Amino acid sequence: LSVTKRVLVTGGAGFIGSAVVRHLIAESDYEVLTLDKLTYAGTLTSLGPVSEDPRHAFLQADICDAEAVAGAFARFDPDIVLHLAAESHVDRSIDGPAVFVETNVVGTFRMLAEATRHWQGLAPGRKERFRFHHISTDEVFGSLGPDGFFVEETPYDPRSPYSASKAGSDHLVRAWHHTYGLPTLVTNCSNNYGPYHFPEKLIPLMIVKALAGEPLPVYGRGENVRDWLFVEDHARALRRVFEAGTPGETYNIGGNSERRNIEVVQEVCRLLDTMRPRPDGRSYAEQIAFVADRPGHDQRYAIDASKIRRELGWFPLETFESGLEKTVRWYLENEAWWRAIQTGQYRGERLGLRSGE
Ligand code: NAD
Repeated sequence: LSVTKRVLVTGGAGFIGSAVVRHLIAESDYEVLTLDKLTYAGTLTSLGPVSEDPRHAFLQADICDAEAVAGAFARFDPDIVLHLAAESHVDRSIDGPAVFVETNVVGTFRMLAEATRHWQGLAPGRKERFRFHHISTDEVFGSLGPDGFFVEETPYDPRSPYSASKAGSDHLVRAWHHTYGLPTLVTNCSNNYGPYHFPEKLIPLMIVKALAGEPLPVYGRGENVRDWLFVEDHARALRRVFEAGTPGETYNIGGNSERRNIEVVQEVCRLLDTMRPRPDGRSYAEQIAFVADRPGHDQRYAIDASKIRRELGWFPLETFESGLEKTVRWYLENEAWWRAIQTGQYRGERLGLRSGE
Protein backbone atom coordinates (compact mmCIF):
# COMPACT_ATOMS: atom_id res chain seq x y z
CA LEU A 1 0.00 0.00 0.00
CA SER A 2 1.50 3.34 -0.99
CA VAL A 3 1.68 6.09 1.61
CA THR A 4 -0.14 9.42 1.09
CA LYS A 5 2.61 11.71 -0.01
CA ARG A 6 1.92 14.50 -2.48
CA VAL A 7 0.02 17.70 -1.66
CA LEU A 8 -0.97 20.21 -4.34
CA VAL A 9 -1.48 23.65 -2.75
CA THR A 10 -3.21 26.31 -4.84
CA GLY A 11 -2.60 29.88 -3.70
CA GLY A 12 0.52 28.70 -1.87
CA ALA A 13 2.36 31.98 -2.49
CA GLY A 14 -0.32 33.91 -0.56
CA PHE A 15 -0.64 34.61 3.14
CA ILE A 16 -2.31 31.43 4.44
CA GLY A 17 -1.14 29.17 1.60
CA SER A 18 2.51 29.99 2.23
CA ALA A 19 2.05 29.31 5.96
CA VAL A 20 0.63 25.88 5.07
CA VAL A 21 3.47 25.14 2.66
CA ARG A 22 6.13 26.22 5.18
CA HIS A 23 4.39 24.10 7.85
CA LEU A 24 4.15 20.97 5.66
CA ILE A 25 7.79 21.18 4.57
CA ALA A 26 9.08 21.86 8.09
CA GLU A 27 6.83 19.50 10.06
CA SER A 28 6.02 16.55 7.76
CA ASP A 29 7.50 14.47 4.97
CA TYR A 30 4.92 15.41 2.31
CA GLU A 31 6.05 16.55 -1.11
CA VAL A 32 4.39 19.84 -2.01
CA LEU A 33 3.63 21.52 -5.32
CA THR A 34 2.63 25.16 -4.98
CA LEU A 35 0.41 26.28 -7.86
CA ASP A 36 -0.06 30.05 -7.90
CA LYS A 37 -0.73 32.72 -10.51
CA LEU A 38 1.31 35.27 -8.52
CA THR A 39 -1.29 38.01 -8.61
CA TYR A 40 -0.55 41.21 -6.66
CA ALA A 41 -1.25 39.14 -3.49
CA GLY A 42 1.22 36.33 -4.14
CA THR A 43 4.96 36.57 -3.68
CA LEU A 44 7.66 33.94 -3.84
CA THR A 45 9.47 35.73 -1.03
CA SER A 46 6.88 34.17 1.32
CA LEU A 47 8.21 30.77 0.21
CA GLY A 48 11.83 31.79 0.81
CA PRO A 49 12.20 29.37 3.78
CA VAL A 50 11.30 26.36 1.56
CA SER A 51 12.95 27.53 -1.66
CA GLU A 52 15.92 25.17 -1.40
CA ASP A 53 13.95 22.15 -0.19
CA PRO A 54 13.85 19.26 -2.68
CA ARG A 55 10.34 18.32 -1.44
CA HIS A 56 8.91 21.61 -2.71
CA ALA A 57 8.27 22.77 -6.26
CA PHE A 58 6.56 25.85 -7.65
CA LEU A 59 4.37 26.22 -10.72
CA GLN A 60 3.13 29.59 -11.89
CA ALA A 61 -0.36 28.92 -13.27
CA ASP A 62 -3.91 30.26 -13.23
CA ILE A 63 -6.57 27.98 -11.70
CA CYS A 64 -8.95 29.21 -14.43
CA ASP A 65 -6.63 27.73 -17.09
CA ALA A 66 -7.98 24.18 -17.51
CA GLU A 67 -4.99 23.01 -19.54
CA ALA A 68 -2.45 24.26 -16.99
CA VAL A 69 -4.41 22.70 -14.12
CA ALA A 70 -4.75 19.38 -15.98
CA GLY A 71 -1.01 19.44 -16.65
CA ALA A 72 -0.27 19.99 -12.98
CA PHE A 73 -2.45 17.01 -11.98
CA ALA A 74 -0.87 14.79 -14.63
CA ARG A 75 2.74 15.65 -13.75
CA PHE A 76 2.51 15.95 -9.97
CA ASP A 77 -0.08 13.19 -9.40
CA PRO A 78 -1.33 14.53 -6.04
CA ASP A 79 -2.94 12.58 -3.18
CA ILE A 80 -4.30 15.74 -1.54
CA VAL A 81 -5.44 19.07 -2.99
CA LEU A 82 -5.53 22.10 -0.70
CA HIS A 83 -7.42 24.77 -2.59
CA LEU A 84 -6.62 28.24 -1.25
CA ALA A 85 -6.17 30.28 -4.45
CA ALA A 86 -8.68 33.12 -4.39
CA GLU A 87 -9.16 36.82 -4.58
CA SER A 88 -9.42 37.64 -0.89
CA HIS A 89 -9.76 41.35 -0.17
CA VAL A 90 -13.29 42.63 0.59
CA ASP A 91 -12.57 46.26 -0.38
CA ARG A 92 -11.18 45.19 -3.75
CA SER A 93 -14.30 43.07 -4.34
CA ILE A 94 -16.46 46.15 -3.92
CA ASP A 95 -14.42 48.12 -6.47
CA GLY A 96 -13.97 45.28 -8.97
CA PRO A 97 -16.11 42.18 -8.42
CA ALA A 98 -15.53 40.51 -11.82
CA VAL A 99 -12.20 38.88 -10.99
CA PHE A 100 -13.71 37.55 -7.74
CA VAL A 101 -16.38 35.65 -9.65
CA GLU A 102 -13.80 34.51 -12.19
CA THR A 103 -11.17 33.18 -9.77
CA ASN A 104 -13.28 32.16 -6.79
CA VAL A 105 -16.25 30.61 -8.61
CA VAL A 106 -15.03 29.64 -12.10
CA GLY A 107 -11.53 28.81 -10.85
CA THR A 108 -12.92 26.50 -8.15
CA PHE A 109 -15.09 24.81 -10.80
CA ARG A 110 -11.94 24.17 -12.93
CA MET A 111 -10.12 22.74 -9.93
CA LEU A 112 -13.07 20.46 -9.12
CA ALA A 113 -13.40 19.26 -12.70
CA GLU A 114 -9.71 18.37 -13.02
CA ALA A 115 -9.52 16.92 -9.50
CA THR A 116 -12.50 14.67 -10.26
CA ARG A 117 -10.92 13.42 -13.51
CA HIS A 118 -7.66 12.73 -11.65
CA TRP A 119 -9.39 11.03 -8.70
CA GLN A 120 -11.49 8.79 -10.96
CA GLY A 121 -8.29 7.50 -12.58
CA LEU A 122 -6.50 6.66 -9.34
CA ALA A 123 -5.77 3.05 -8.44
CA PRO A 124 -7.83 1.43 -5.66
CA GLY A 125 -6.16 2.17 -2.34
CA ARG A 126 -4.99 5.60 -3.40
CA LYS A 127 -8.46 6.54 -4.63
CA GLU A 128 -10.03 6.09 -1.18
CA ARG A 129 -7.40 8.31 0.41
CA PHE A 130 -7.62 11.20 -2.06
CA ARG A 131 -8.96 14.47 -0.62
CA PHE A 132 -10.04 17.79 -2.14
CA HIS A 133 -9.89 20.30 0.69
CA HIS A 134 -11.48 23.67 -0.01
CA ILE A 135 -10.45 26.56 2.25
CA SER A 136 -13.15 29.14 2.91
CA THR A 137 -14.18 31.92 5.23
CA ASP A 138 -16.71 32.58 7.99
CA GLU A 139 -17.88 35.58 5.97
CA VAL A 140 -20.18 33.27 3.97
CA PHE A 141 -22.46 33.16 7.04
CA GLY A 142 -23.20 36.90 6.94
CA SER A 143 -23.24 39.15 9.97
CA LEU A 144 -24.08 38.43 13.62
CA GLY A 145 -25.69 40.69 16.21
CA PRO A 146 -24.06 41.08 19.61
CA ASP A 147 -24.73 37.43 20.56
CA GLY A 148 -24.42 33.98 19.04
CA PHE A 149 -21.86 32.09 16.98
CA PHE A 150 -21.58 30.64 13.48
CA VAL A 151 -21.86 26.85 13.53
CA GLU A 152 -21.40 24.52 10.56
CA GLU A 153 -25.19 24.46 10.00
CA THR A 154 -25.64 28.25 10.00
CA PRO A 155 -27.46 29.18 6.76
CA TYR A 156 -25.35 31.02 4.21
CA ASP A 157 -26.04 34.75 3.97
CA PRO A 158 -23.09 36.40 2.19
CA ARG A 159 -23.23 40.18 1.77
CA SER A 160 -20.11 41.33 -0.12
CA PRO A 161 -19.01 40.28 -3.62
CA TYR A 162 -16.07 38.54 -1.91
CA SER A 163 -18.16 36.49 0.51
CA ALA A 164 -20.78 35.75 -2.17
CA SER A 165 -18.10 34.37 -4.49
CA LYS A 166 -16.67 32.24 -1.67
CA ALA A 167 -20.18 31.00 -0.80
CA GLY A 168 -20.66 30.03 -4.45
CA SER A 169 -17.42 28.07 -4.42
CA ASP A 170 -18.37 26.26 -1.17
CA HIS A 171 -21.66 25.17 -2.76
CA LEU A 172 -19.86 23.87 -5.84
CA VAL A 173 -17.51 21.80 -3.68
CA ARG A 174 -20.41 20.22 -1.76
CA ALA A 175 -22.23 19.55 -5.03
CA TRP A 176 -19.18 17.71 -6.38
CA HIS A 177 -19.21 15.52 -3.29
CA HIS A 178 -22.91 14.70 -3.52
CA THR A 179 -23.07 14.38 -7.31
CA TYR A 180 -19.76 12.74 -8.24
CA GLY A 181 -18.64 11.34 -4.89
CA LEU A 182 -15.44 13.40 -4.84
CA PRO A 183 -13.98 13.11 -1.29
CA THR A 184 -14.17 16.77 -0.36
CA LEU A 185 -13.58 18.72 2.85
CA VAL A 186 -14.63 22.32 3.47
CA THR A 187 -13.27 24.52 6.24
CA ASN A 188 -14.62 27.98 7.10
CA CYS A 189 -12.20 30.05 9.11
CA SER A 190 -12.26 33.38 10.89
CA ASN A 191 -9.87 36.32 10.27
CA ASN A 192 -6.25 35.25 10.13
CA TYR A 193 -3.26 37.34 11.14
CA GLY A 194 0.47 36.69 11.42
CA PRO A 195 3.76 36.90 9.53
CA TYR A 196 3.79 37.37 5.71
CA HIS A 197 0.36 39.07 5.73
CA PHE A 198 -0.05 41.39 2.75
CA PRO A 199 0.18 44.96 4.04
CA GLU A 200 -3.28 45.98 2.79
CA LYS A 201 -5.01 43.96 5.57
CA LEU A 202 -5.89 45.55 8.92
CA ILE A 203 -3.08 44.44 11.24
CA PRO A 204 -0.06 44.77 8.91
CA LEU A 205 -1.53 47.98 7.45
CA MET A 206 -1.61 49.52 10.91
CA ILE A 207 1.96 48.42 11.66
CA VAL A 208 3.47 49.83 8.45
CA LYS A 209 1.44 53.06 8.58
CA ALA A 210 2.30 53.58 12.24
CA LEU A 211 6.01 53.21 11.50
CA ALA A 212 5.70 55.62 8.56
CA GLY A 213 4.12 58.24 10.84
CA GLU A 214 0.90 58.15 8.80
CA PRO A 215 -2.74 58.24 10.03
CA LEU A 216 -4.12 54.81 11.04
CA PRO A 217 -7.45 54.58 9.16
CA VAL A 218 -10.19 52.81 11.14
CA TYR A 219 -13.62 52.27 9.53
CA GLY A 220 -16.60 53.92 11.27
CA ARG A 221 -15.92 54.00 15.01
CA GLY A 222 -13.97 50.73 14.95
CA GLU A 223 -16.88 48.89 16.56
CA ASN A 224 -16.99 45.95 14.10
CA VAL A 225 -16.07 42.69 15.79
CA ARG A 226 -13.88 39.99 14.23
CA ASP A 227 -12.68 36.65 15.59
CA TRP A 228 -8.89 36.39 15.12
CA LEU A 229 -6.77 33.29 14.52
CA PHE A 230 -2.96 33.14 14.27
CA VAL A 231 -2.14 31.88 10.77
CA GLU A 232 0.15 29.08 11.97
CA ASP A 233 -2.71 27.70 14.09
CA HIS A 234 -4.82 27.71 10.90
CA ALA A 235 -2.09 25.82 9.01
CA ARG A 236 -2.07 23.12 11.74
CA ALA A 237 -5.87 22.94 11.63
CA LEU A 238 -5.88 22.40 7.87
CA ARG A 239 -3.40 19.55 8.14
CA ARG A 240 -5.48 17.95 10.89
CA VAL A 241 -8.62 18.20 8.72
CA PHE A 242 -7.15 16.73 5.53
CA GLU A 243 -5.46 13.93 7.51
CA ALA A 244 -8.36 13.01 9.81
CA GLY A 245 -11.56 14.77 8.66
CA THR A 246 -14.53 12.87 7.23
CA PRO A 247 -15.11 13.36 3.47
CA GLY A 248 -18.19 15.46 2.74
CA GLU A 249 -17.95 17.26 6.08
CA THR A 250 -17.47 20.93 6.91
CA TYR A 251 -15.39 22.17 9.86
CA ASN A 252 -15.41 25.68 11.31
CA ILE A 253 -12.03 26.98 12.45
CA GLY A 254 -11.68 29.93 14.82
CA GLY A 255 -9.48 31.40 17.50
CA ASN A 256 -12.16 32.16 20.09
CA SER A 257 -10.61 35.65 20.14
CA GLU A 258 -13.25 38.25 19.42
CA ARG A 259 -12.01 41.81 19.32
CA ARG A 260 -13.46 45.12 18.16
CA ASN A 261 -11.33 46.61 15.37
CA ILE A 262 -10.45 49.59 17.53
CA GLU A 263 -9.15 47.25 20.26
CA VAL A 264 -6.95 45.49 17.71
CA VAL A 265 -5.47 48.78 16.51
CA GLN A 266 -4.90 50.02 20.07
CA GLU A 267 -3.15 46.76 20.95
CA VAL A 268 -0.88 47.08 17.88
CA CYS A 269 -0.03 50.64 19.00
CA ARG A 270 0.70 49.49 22.54
CA LEU A 271 3.08 46.76 21.31
CA LEU A 272 4.85 49.20 18.98
CA ASP A 273 5.13 51.76 21.79
CA THR A 274 7.13 49.15 23.73
CA MET A 275 9.12 47.54 20.92
CA ARG A 276 9.87 50.58 18.71
CA PRO A 277 8.96 53.77 20.62
CA ARG A 278 8.13 56.84 18.54
CA PRO A 279 11.06 59.27 18.37
CA ASP A 280 8.93 61.93 20.16
CA GLY A 281 8.04 59.48 22.94
CA ARG A 282 4.26 59.78 22.33
CA SER A 283 1.96 56.82 21.61
CA TYR A 284 1.26 55.55 18.10
CA ALA A 285 -2.41 55.59 19.21
CA GLU A 286 -2.36 59.35 18.51
CA GLN A 287 -2.21 58.47 14.78
CA ILE A 288 -5.62 56.69 14.84
CA ALA A 289 -8.05 58.41 12.41
CA PHE A 290 -11.66 57.28 11.93
CA VAL A 291 -12.77 57.16 8.28
CA ALA A 292 -16.14 56.69 6.51
CA ASP A 293 -17.39 53.12 6.97
CA ARG A 294 -17.13 50.42 4.27
CA PRO A 295 -20.47 49.94 2.43
CA GLY A 296 -22.38 46.96 3.84
CA HIS A 297 -19.76 46.45 6.57
CA ASP A 298 -20.67 43.28 8.49
CA GLN A 299 -21.03 44.03 12.20
CA ARG A 300 -19.76 40.90 13.86
CA TYR A 301 -18.31 37.50 12.99
CA ALA A 302 -17.73 34.83 15.60
CA ILE A 303 -16.96 31.16 15.05
CA ASP A 304 -17.99 28.21 17.16
CA ALA A 305 -15.03 25.87 16.58
CA SER A 306 -16.20 23.13 18.96
CA LYS A 307 -16.73 20.50 16.22
CA ILE A 308 -13.09 20.45 15.08
CA ARG A 309 -11.98 20.41 18.72
CA ARG A 310 -14.36 17.60 19.67
CA GLU A 311 -13.95 15.40 16.58
CA LEU A 312 -10.36 16.08 15.54
CA GLY A 313 -8.73 17.37 18.74
CA TRP A 314 -7.55 20.66 17.22
CA PHE A 315 -7.36 23.89 19.21
CA PRO A 316 -5.28 27.05 18.76
CA LEU A 317 -1.93 27.22 20.54
CA GLU A 318 -1.65 31.02 20.46
CA THR A 319 -3.78 33.51 22.35
CA PHE A 320 -4.54 36.77 20.55
CA GLU A 321 -2.00 38.53 22.79
CA SER A 322 0.85 36.06 22.17
CA GLY A 323 0.12 35.83 18.44
CA LEU A 324 -0.10 39.59 18.00
CA GLU A 325 3.18 40.12 19.81
CA LYS A 326 4.88 37.58 17.50
CA THR A 327 3.31 39.32 14.50
CA VAL A 328 4.41 42.84 15.42
CA ARG A 329 7.91 41.56 16.18
CA TRP A 330 8.02 39.76 12.81
CA TYR A 331 7.12 42.97 10.92
CA LEU A 332 9.79 44.89 12.81
CA GLU A 333 12.40 42.25 12.00
CA ASN A 334 11.35 41.68 8.38
CA GLU A 335 11.05 45.16 7.02
CA ALA A 336 12.75 44.08 3.78
CA TRP A 337 9.84 41.68 3.04
CA TRP A 338 7.06 44.28 3.27
CA ARG A 339 9.07 47.16 1.84
CA ALA A 340 9.71 45.07 -1.30
CA ILE A 341 5.98 44.42 -1.57
CA GLN A 342 5.16 48.10 -1.15
CA THR A 343 7.54 49.03 -3.94
CA GLY A 344 6.63 46.08 -6.16
CA GLN A 345 10.23 44.85 -6.19
CA TYR A 346 9.24 41.26 -5.50
CA ARG A 347 7.66 40.86 -8.92
CA GLY A 348 9.61 38.53 -11.15
CA GLU A 349 11.84 37.27 -8.36
CA ARG A 350 12.40 33.55 -8.42
CA LEU A 351 14.62 33.03 -5.38
CA GLY A 352 16.07 29.84 -6.81
CA LEU A 353 12.79 27.91 -6.53
CA ARG A 354 12.63 24.83 -8.68
CA SER A 355 10.11 25.10 -11.47
CA GLY A 356 7.10 22.81 -11.35
CA GLU A 357 8.11 20.88 -14.48
P1 NAD B 1 -4.10 35.90 -0.31
O1 NAD B 1 -4.79 36.94 -1.11
O2 NAD B 1 -2.98 36.29 0.61
O3 NAD B 1 -3.51 34.78 -1.28
C1 NAD B 1 -4.20 34.28 -2.39
C2 NAD B 1 -3.21 33.59 -3.30
O4 NAD B 1 -3.94 33.07 -4.42
C3 NAD B 1 -2.15 34.55 -3.87
O5 NAD B 1 -0.86 33.95 -3.76
C4 NAD B 1 -2.56 34.72 -5.33
O6 NAD B 1 -1.45 34.94 -6.20
C5 NAD B 1 -3.24 33.38 -5.60
N1 NAD B 1 -4.22 33.49 -6.70
C6 NAD B 1 -5.19 34.43 -6.86
N2 NAD B 1 -5.87 34.20 -8.01
C7 NAD B 1 -5.33 33.08 -8.56
C8 NAD B 1 -5.61 32.33 -9.73
N3 NAD B 1 -6.59 32.70 -10.59
N4 NAD B 1 -4.88 31.22 -9.99
C9 NAD B 1 -3.89 30.84 -9.15
N5 NAD B 1 -3.56 31.52 -8.04
C10 NAD B 1 -4.28 32.62 -7.74
O7 NAD B 1 -5.25 35.15 0.50
P2 NAD B 1 -5.20 34.45 1.93
O8 NAD B 1 -5.55 35.45 2.95
O9 NAD B 1 -3.95 33.65 2.07
O10 NAD B 1 -6.44 33.45 1.79
C11 NAD B 1 -6.29 32.15 1.24
C12 NAD B 1 -7.63 31.45 1.22
O11 NAD B 1 -8.15 31.37 2.53
C13 NAD B 1 -8.68 32.16 0.37
O12 NAD B 1 -9.43 31.18 -0.29
C14 NAD B 1 -9.53 32.91 1.39
O13 NAD B 1 -10.84 33.04 0.92
C15 NAD B 1 -9.45 31.97 2.58
N6 NAD B 1 -9.59 32.61 3.90
C16 NAD B 1 -8.83 33.70 4.26
C17 NAD B 1 -8.95 34.24 5.53
C18 NAD B 1 -8.11 35.41 5.99
O14 NAD B 1 -8.31 35.91 7.09
N7 NAD B 1 -7.10 35.85 5.24
C19 NAD B 1 -9.85 33.68 6.43
C20 NAD B 1 -10.60 32.56 6.05
C21 NAD B 1 -10.45 32.05 4.79
